[in-house]
Amino acid sequence: MDEKKNELFYQPKNGYDLIGAAERTACEDYCKGYMAYLDAARTEREAVSEAIRLAEAAGFAPLGDDAGPIRPGQKVYLNNRGKSLLLAVGGKKPMSAGFVVGAAHVDSPRLDLKQLPLFEDAELGYFRTHYYGGIKKYQWTAIPLELHGTVALKDGTAVDVVIGRDKDDPQFVVTDLLPHLAADQMQKTMAKGVEGEKLCILAGSVPYAGEGGDRVKLAVMSLLNDRYGITEADLISAELEAVPAFDVRELGLDRSMIGGYGQDDRVCAYAELAAILQTEAPERTAVCILADKEEIGSVGVSGMRSQAFERFIARLCGDTCTVQESFSHSFCVSADVTAALDPMYPEVSEKQNAARLNYGVGFCKYTGSRGKSGASDASAELVGYLRRLCDDAGVVWQMCELGKVDQGGGGTVALYMADRDIDTIDAGVPVLSMHAPFETTAKFDCYMTYKCMKAAYGAE
Ligand code: MN
Ligand code: MN
Repeated sequence: MDEKKNELFYQPKNGYDLIGAAERTACEDYCKGYMAYLDAARTEREAVSEAIRLAEAAGFAPLGDDAGPIRPGQKVYLNNRGKSLLLAVGGKKPMSAGFVVGAAHVDSPRLDLKQLPLFEDAELGYFRTHYYGGIKKYQWTAIPLELHGTVALKDGTAVDVVIGRDKDDPQFVVTDLLPHLAADQMQKTMAKGVEGEKLCILAGSVPYAGEGGDRVKLAVMSLLNDRYGITEADLISAELEAVPAFDVRELGLDRSMIGGYGQDDRVCAYAELAAILQTEAPERTAVCILADKEEIGSVGVSGMRSQAFERFIARLCGDTCTVQESFSHSFCVSADVTAALDPMYPEVSEKQNAARLNYGVGFCKYTGSRGKSGASDASAELVGYLRRLCDDAGVVWQMCELGKVDQGGGGTVALYMADRDIDTIDAGVPVLSMHAPFETTAKFDCYMTYKCMKAAYGAE
């Protein structure tokens, strides 16, 4: 009977039963590079600048104004306002044959400082914040935070801000109530226990010498002025992001997992990036996108709905074909993370169709919620194509769905790529504690997502 089962049943296996010593070593090497990238890329801007540094080292050059159609083997990138990045390696075939694109995002949930953030209360200085993306607010209290971002000055120059990354630098925190006095708070729902306006970041406590009010606020502003030459008015034109200060670490006694902030979706962004940096002369032009603003709907000039993508592809096409013609023959892997089955919370997943740690890159035919709403729902033919591509390249993959029917759901950039007449499917790394300040992935799945991207770029 077992023989018949093996013949007829789809029986996914734990990845560690499928790979040998050489592949395990390759996996470890790959994850070292990923962990270093994740440690260096705490914001979308840093994810872009770090990717450019790696791309230039691999021979990529900025797309010049005079460039015609992309040449076979040519390696170019377009830095979209420092917040999203588009890279390409010219294929042997012309752009009219379409291109293979990996689309991931590099923005992650965080606490953004408001434009007038600074105030003091009871002689303590604070920054007010407005959270970015979907967070469980209680998770962001009582953990160490760093401040990263940029302040645009009136004279047109900008000042980059990083406070808390260096070991000697001070860090920040959002305080929470002690349990002794939390009787009322503990009666509230988890959604209401910590309210958005209470996510204020403690910024200082020593008053400025002299008489009068707002002395701690003045002292904090004075320190910012000493360090960065800025005033309170300059904060109006600033983007300052408070992000978890945790180092990226190996997890588990067997070191098989990775813990870190921002793995959604820098884990897939790095997989795409590492794959395209090793792509030399693909059949079809390879394109890699590190997009911004996915967590708030792919909006804005640096989001995936932006025409910046059309502008980039138009430059690669030159006068050889229209962007639309090229789109219609293209293939997109929307590389974004998916929810892994959490044995502590099995009730939110339907086990047969849930992604599992160490089972490889997760394909999602559809995402969305309430009857697949908001999904691009890849065609059967496209799923079949990806199955073949990955099996031929020795990529371990699993088919998965983000949570039980009507449990909730989520979206990616997939529908915005499909809107453009590009065949698109979601594939990415299963994550535990997604959107938490410290997310968990399995090294094996990170590595297989990279192999999946390599196989896609290497396809006919
Ligand atoms: Mn994501
Ligand atoms: Mn997300």
